[in-house]
Amino acid sequence: MASHIVGYPRVGPKRELKFALESFWDGKSSAEELQKVAAGLRVSIWKQMADAGIKYIPSNTFSYYDQVLDTTAMLGAVPSRYGWGGGEIGFDIYFSMARGNASVPAMEMTKWFDTNYMVFVDPATTLCLNWDQMSNFLMHLTRQCKNIRRLKLPSPHRPSFLLVVIKLAKGVEKSFSLLSLIDKILPVYKQLGLAGFSLMSLHLSWILILKLHAFTHAYKELESSVSGLNVLIETYFADLPAEAYNIVTSLKGVTAVGFDLVRASKTLGLIKNGFPSGKYLFAGVVDGRNIWANDLDASLSNLRALEGVTSLVSTSCSLLHTAVDLVNETKLDKELKSWLAFAAQKLLEVDALAKALAGLKDEAFFSANAAAQASRKSSPRVTDEAVQKATTAVKGSDHRRATNVSTRLEAQQKKLNLPMLPTTTIGSFPQTLGLRKVRREYKASKISEEEYGKAIKEEIEVVVKLQEELGIDVLVHGEPERNDMVEYFGEQLSGFAFTVNGWVQSYGSRCVKPPIIYGDVSRPKAMTVFWSTLAQSMTNSPMKGMLTGPVTILNWSFVRNDQPRFETCYQIALAIKDEVEDLEKAGINVIQIDEAALREGLPLRKSEQAFYLDWAVHSFRITNCDAQDTTQIHTHMCYSNFNDIIHSIIDMDADVITIENSRSDEKLLSIFHEGVKYGAGIGPGVYDIHSPRIPSTEEIAERINKMLGVLDSKILWVNPDCGLKTRKYSEVKPALSNMVAAAKLARMQL
Ligand code: GLN
Ligand code: ZN
Repeated sequence: MASHIVGYPRVGPKRELKFALESFWDGKSSAEELQKVAAGLRVSIWKQMADAGIKYIPSNTFSYYDQVLDTTAMLGAVPSRYGWGGGEIGFDIYFSMARGNASVPAMEMTKWFDTNYMVFVDPATTLCLNWDQMSNFLMHLTRQCKNIRRLKLPSPHRPSFLLVVIKLAKGVEKSFSLLSLIDKILPVYKQLGLAGFSLMSLHLSWILILKLHAFTHAYKELESSVSGLNVLIETYFADLPAEAYNIVTSLKGVTAVGFDLVRASKTLGLIKNGFPSGKYLFAGVVDGRNIWANDLDASLSNLRALEGVTSLVSTSCSLLHTAVDLVNETKLDKELKSWLAFAAQKLLEVDALAKALAGLKDEAFFSANAAAQASRKSSPRVTDEAVQKATTAVKGSDHRRATNVSTRLEAQQKKLNLPMLPTTTIGSFPQTLGLRKVRREYKASKISEEEYGKAIKEEIEVVVKLQEELGIDVLVHGEPERNDMVEYFGEQLSGFAFTVNGWVQSYGSRCVKPPIIYGDVSRPKAMTVFWSTLAQSMTNSPMKGMLTGPVTILNWSFVRNDQPRFETCYQIALAIKDEVEDLEKAGINVIQIDEAALREGLPLRKSEQAFYLDWAVHSFRITNCDAQDTTQIHTHMCYSNFNDIIHSIIDMDADVITIENSRSDEKLLSIFHEGVKYGAGIGPGVYDIHSPRIPSTEEIAERINKMLGVLDSKILWVNPDCGLKTRKYSEVKPALSNMVAAAKLARMQL
């Protein structure tokens, strides 16, 4: 019985890679220094795994930026704008692809399946095998192997590669047939096999496997030309359809298959029904997507039930998606910590399970784990009877507002008296260094509550005054008191915990620190009423209350795994509902409930999407179902791909939706061209806030006019794409001024 890890976080327990990268980019350190940090991280991870008893240690899971980008480089699929003339790809070109440079933009990114991790995709117009990059890479790999030997690590070295890249590469499907592409890529993989690695793993997702003919072809080719190579196929994040399962497990050239037994609930059944003898099952029972300690007894009995199958204990997927090491959490209490396992702790769990299966059960480790599981189940910190009761009751109703959207819009217009094509912004205003400092010092108790309150109030005054001067119709307070749109609410809700170092890489040097939802969620007291009413008192224009929606809070947190996600979402929804009601009572007539990440929770499998959308949209409706007709509920969504979920968006039944759109007008507008009926207010962003570029009045006016071609002038709003917090005032002022001018211009032409 052996143990295995699919992959490990590369950013380091204290984000060492992030700081090394940023210092290199700023010209403060050399390439050698960056390489040294990277090598140090790799070695310490291997050592840690070896110390934990892991038998199959992965290599090539490190990347300076992103693993798909590395594969792109290896395959020579470098877009021509980077001026690569062949040969080894150095930091210069590599980081230009990742981040762009003064003259060319970065490659396009997309999400790594349904994780928050981002990978690069760009139309792959050429695909030439980059032998220089390859041999350089092989040299590195060989050197790494030697390092492993020098460290006297007992473990075989398992390099890991991505196969899925060909499916992700944008434009590929249109311009190439998948088969011809695979034929181009195969020589690279063959070369890797010939380099003499005893076991190599290929990561691919079930999505690729859907193209079964191409998949089978690839493996037949691979096995016919590389003898002595043991291929492990890693599949994760979802069940494999039965047909794909049969093919994958029966391929001659495949020695082992790894399954995600946490998320793929049906796969265990398939394995029990038949797994070929002579092959190895890498049983992914330790969750790589979460921070919860594994229920070791439950995993052990699942593993024991796989009698007759030669299995190894593994993680469900790469540990890249979880936090790095619980050891660095100084602020979490002991009890809560006993419920958690970050990547470093998951190594120990995998090893303990492997040993237990081999008859070497570490009784002390297992009983400590059982005690923690029991304490989590019975803890009064986790269960709040009243919340549980309220959540159960939620399921009995649909939570729709009393009247339909057009009646409500009329009632609101009477109260708000807005011009046609009203202007607004999405919520945040620039977060200056001074502002960040004030918040930091307040958190560290370096300044008093009074001083902090004064600074925030002054900032709100500036923001309100600026909006009045610009002539914006519906104002915001600018969110100066918020460091993060989820953390701000999580910190004020019960059932949430926060880590100090629980960072998860999202791409390159960017990391996020998701809150941990460990218990039933409730709202002890109002969270935003103070600042919103203060801001409203500074102006006669309507001031938008600004809340983060339940689905976004859920999707950007580590969510408890002891109840279905929708239950937790309903609980958050009820807490936000309390806040909506308090804002309304305090005289706030427009309330925006951001659902920036609604789309992010969409399950990979089509068959599961309707259920998710149903409870996600229901959760949103819960937050504002009891709002008066005259209270205008806004929502905001990031990401531009709405076409396939437009009916769910309509079903949210918000009065106004503002959406990130400025990079894909055509796509959004096509929905309405196709005749989708949309009666609520809608503000497709008229300029891109991700860029420092200042849009001209003419171009904004032109976009407004284009939208008026398909949308009724009565429902169109004019606003930027998203919040302005990452921008500078020197960009925001002229951009908003042009936006207001464009709206006025368009109004005159109505
Ligand atoms: N209200 C938030 C802001 O303006 C919304 C951010 C988001 O959509 N990501 O910052
Ligand atoms: Zn947004």
